[in-house]
Amino acid sequence: MNPLVEVRDLVKHYPVTGGVFLREVAKVRAVDGVSLAIKPGETLGLVGESGCGKSTLGRLILRLEEPTAGQVLFEGEDILAYDREHLRSLREEMQIIFQDPFSSLNPRKNVAHIVGEPLLVHGMNSRAEREARVQHLLEVVGLSREHMRRYPHQFSGGQRQRIGVARALALNPKLIICDEAVSALDVSIQAQVINLLQDLQDEFNLTYLFISHDLSVVEHISDRVAVMYLGKVVELADSVMIYSRPLHPYTQALLGAAPVPDPHRAVKHAILKGDVPSPINPPSGCRFHTRCPYVEQMCRDHEPELRELAPGHTAACHFAGQRPSLFKPDGG
Ligand code: SF4
Repeated sequence: MNPLVEVRDLVKHYPVTGGVFLREVAKVRAVDGVSLAIKPGETLGLVGESGCGKSTLGRLILRLEEPTAGQVLFEGEDILAYDREHLRSLREEMQIIFQDPFSSLNPRKNVAHIVGEPLLVHGMNSRAEREARVQHLLEVVGLSREHMRRYPHQFSGGQRQRIGVARALALNPKLIICDEAVSALDVSIQAQVINLLQDLQDEFNLTYLFISHDLSVVEHISDRVAVMYLGKVVELADSVMIYSRPLHPYTQALLGAAPVPDPHRAVKHAILKGDVPSPINPPSGCRFHTRCPYVEQMCRDHEPELRELAPGHTAACHFAGQRPSLFKPDGG
């Protein structure tokens, strides 16, 4: 099956300026050579600690930012070559749901306006038509027509995120990027919104890129998971493999540090020591070497390639699968 979205060697560097003439003195390497593909109807989870470049990658795919290098293909077409008119129609196909529904919804506008705005922008000029569509969308996300005249502050966090979902659905997109979309919600509300997203995926054949720092959230919604560290993908596999047999020490450490909701499932906690190094001056060789318990000189000298170690399971570590796992899901 051809991918819906594909990125090839994608790079995004931000200049850091200094001195009297504000010359470029360094670069923030937010995304530093990422290649991956998302199939139609699939959910790809994208995880990593804060600052690893996962949100930047989402914004590059949406072309909300221009990459420094690399390609973004949507349905096989290089969207970086699109002109304004093409980009306008691309906006209908790709949408984003943000983390904080309160700040992403205009507090001075009512729900009819907020959800109906993309319809107006994309040419649905009849107010009656827009309101009928908004009403339908609200019902789809579990709200009702009575909510149309209310304002964001009159809703709970979960309801506000449902409004964000309705807005994202307004133009019948193919791809929705959920950028920490449930991170600000209570656990029980998170589950409701995730269930809603899964139901909508089945109903509308949606494809999701689900960005989160929370591995437990990603586990339940993702078909495959990509793990990012300092601007690079370090492991990519289907969800079952990542959670049962992670091969990269970083993924193992993240899983070892994640809270486990099941009291019968003992987990040996592997504490991830230290902070993520600065993306301005990433470590030589393997970027994880400053925090990895298995570091050897080779890791400092040579950057590991992302290699396929089992069908569909890739990891970037010189010793992937050759060292004791930092994560023991069965308490071993
Ligand atoms: Fe650790 Fe070396 Fe593997 Fe990097 S390449 S994750 S430092 S063992």
